[in-house]
Amino acid sequence: MSKTKGLKDSYEYIVIGTGPGGGTVARELALGGKKVLMIEAGAWHRRGLGSLLGIRILKGYLMFSRSREGVIVARGMTVGGSSMVYNGNVFDPPGFLYEEMGLDFRREVDELKKEIGVRTLPEKFFRNAKGGVKVREAAAKMGITFRAQEKFIDPDKCSVGCDWCMMGCPKNAKWTTRNYVEEALEHGADLLLSAEVDRIIFEKNARASGVRLKNGEILHADRIVLSAGGIGTPEILLRSGMKNVGESFFMDPMNVVTGYADDESGGAWREMTFTHASDDFEHSDGFLIGNVGGSYSMLSNLSRIKTMRKNALKMLPLMKRGIGLFVKLGDNPNGNVFRNGSFTKPLDMDDVRRMKKGTDICREILVKAGVRPSSIAVAEMIGGHPGGTAAMGLIVDRNFMTEHDNLYVCDGSVLPVSPGAPPSLAILAYSKLCGKMLLGKVRAEDRLVKKTGGARAN
Ligand SMILES: Cc1cc2nc3c(=O)[nH]c(=O)nc-3n(C[C@H](O)[C@H](O)[C@H](O)COP(=O)(O)OP(=O)(O)OC[C@H]3O[C@@H](n4cnc5c(N)ncnc54)[C@H](O)[C@@H]3O)c2cc1C
Repeated sequence: MSKTKGLKDSYEYIVIGTGPGGGTVARELALGGKKVLMIEAGAWHRRGLGSLLGIRILKGYLMFSRSREGVIVARGMTVGGSSMVYNGNVFDPPGFLYEEMGLDFRREVDELKKEIGVRTLPEKFFRNAKGGVKVREAAAKMGITFRAQEKFIDPDKCSVGCDWCMMGCPKNAKWTTRNYVEEALEHGADLLLSAEVDRIIFEKNARASGVRLKNGEILHADRIVLSAGGIGTPEILLRSGMKNVGESFFMDPMNVVTGYADDESGGAWREMTFTHASDDFEHSDGFLIGNVGGSYSMLSNLSRIKTMRKNALKMLPLMKRGIGLFVKLGDNPNGNVFRNGSFTKPLDMDDVRRMKKGTDICREILVKAGVRPSSIAVAEMIGGHPGGTAAMGLIVDRNFMTEHDNLYVCDGSVLPVSPGAPPSLAILAYSKLCGKMLLGKVRAEDRLVKKTGGARAN
């Protein structure tokens, strides 16, 4: 069946993917008056968000999106990409990232924070979060500080006690790049849904002339921006014949450490996940620790057979006493993505050592916060920040251009290293800059950053 019926014969731009990379570039181009077609593999899911059914917007229902070693990589396959399932936490890009990319997008970071209205949630969201308070007090006794997180969440629309961010916000309180896709549509862009791009097609002179969908249909454009994410993008580039792509893959793996409080009121049921985090170990060990609510403690345990047996099924009657912490590691970039979308993510000795240290700290905090030690289980190696696979400086230049002069890549895959913290603000900001560059409003030369060898997260 034709997917392309009703579309124009040719576009100035095709943008592939509608997450923080593609959604942002497409919106910028549409606002700039360009003829844009967005192509998205996922559907515009509306029903079931903010419930268990929301898991269908995650690739492979989360559990089946695994590396060859069994590492789980969560990613949203829907309009808005992974912004539809992210926790909405906002981290300023670290200084070393500008140096690694060789590009300054601080101005766009500031513009976005103002435009989206980034803020921490008001106190009413934490006041009755008894489990969370106990965890923070226990951590403080160990000299570890947790701070309230800045969020892409409108507190006036969000409900206290809701913890469904990762299944699609049921109240539209979380800002996602669906907002940008809508704006692009309002400014004349077209959107092709449930259409998976197979490869880029090239003319004899090596210029990209369009894309071929998995169903064989072909669409043409003057310029193509590939923003299918840290796994989707290298897959497409490899199928298109490009070399050296898909290497240096990182994904910020997490261990989710959960248990059950002895005290009936000591769990974190109806408490929001990742409202607080500690970056005390960011510089020394390259990991973050954050809080996990009761429902996500249960869900993370369902993702692994071992934890399902130990901590989910048998403990179901105690569900409301569930509480957890996660340790999120800025991993070394030593994985690979292949043309069929499979991937490897081996962890080296350094990753293993740092992850163990973080996991032990989480365990100790939980026990000190009143969690029964025998109930503690660790759902290992779950991540959601794929990147490194079409790195800036290697696969794209500072204009986001590949070796083909009208084929660009702009999404998490151009990050040369893990920022060591959730990357959405960074991706949104450099994607906004990429849009401005494509429109000729800014030149890469005016934003170049020299490497000084400053402090890295790990
Ligand atoms: C559970 C979870 C929680 C997270 N929490 C946070 C957080 O709190 N803060 C933060 O900063 N970051 C967070 N992240 C990370 C953040 O969401 C991602 O880093 C970010 O969305 C990546 O943006 P992207 O544009 O590179 O890719 P994506 O968001 O993955 O977008 C890629 C898009 O391309 C589409 N696509 C893929 N292949 C094809 C194809 N062949 N053809 C057409 N379309 C295709 C996909 O459907 C998708 O829409 C989280 C991620 C997850 C999974």
